[in-house]
Amino acid sequence: MRILHPIPAFTDNYIWALREGQQVLVVDPGDAAPVLDWLANEASSLTGILITHHHADHTGGVAELMAKTGAPAWGPAYENLPEGVQRLEGGGNVHWQRIAFQVIDVPGHTAGHIAFYTPDVDGSPVLFCGDTLFSGGCGRLFEGTPEQMLQSLDTLAALPGHTRVCCTHEYTLSNLRFAHAVEPDNDELIAYSRWCEAERAAGRPTLPSTLDREIGINPFLRSREPSVRLALSQRGWSVESDAHAFAALRRWKDEFR
Ligand code: ZN
Ligand code: FE
Repeated sequence: MRILHPIPAFTDNYIWALREGQQVLVVDPGDAAPVLDWLANEASSLTGILITHHHADHTGGVAELMAKTGAPAWGPAYENLPEGVQRLEGGGNVHWQRIAFQVIDVPGHTAGHIAFYTPDVDGSPVLFCGDTLFSGGCGRLFEGTPEQMLQSLDTLAALPGHTRVCCTHEYTLSNLRFAHAVEPDNDELIAYSRWCEAERAAGRPTLPSTLDREIGINPFLRSREPSVRLALSQRGWSVESDAHAFAALRRWKDEFR
């Protein structure tokens, strides 16, 4: 049996840990200390590190973890990463234990951002998507274009609906406030928001989400929906193409308070 666990880091990051027996894989360890603490608590050893993109809150603990545990690390081919990280191209694979992760190019948040997908972890698929897809939102466009991010999200949304979506930040409640502004009549969104508020009030993560869920509530996976298009055009944004609509939605969110 494998265990998928979000280790909290900084104010709102999660370092996802996948444990099989006494072996652990972590994703985007921005800080080594919470990972080392968790390994000690679980009496387990780190035997793999995956990295989705170069930002410090995803890579800051990599060098220390590699030095202290000897675990190999894999990350995107074309980003600035700590020395010794093995490089992966989109379309390739990385193997850890008996699991093969597919490497998916998802440019937008950063130019070389990758995601990791595997179809079967104890019966259901798992996606580690870094800062590309969040529950109720998507990453900011620091290095890529709206077209690239839309294409990246389309690629992720085409994965099986029951895929568990392991995002790297607990941004869900603030994302859902924006989603409500876009689609005030979305019943699934209203029900999901209530559930997320209760989870956070109880000190629990809202993640992992699922792709089915996100397709129902996340405006950035719904930018072609008539309700979203209407909200954009009512605010005077251009919706003349899919890319225009997506770009307008992202700009609206950037300005939203
Ligand atoms: Zn980032
Ligand atoms: Fe981040």
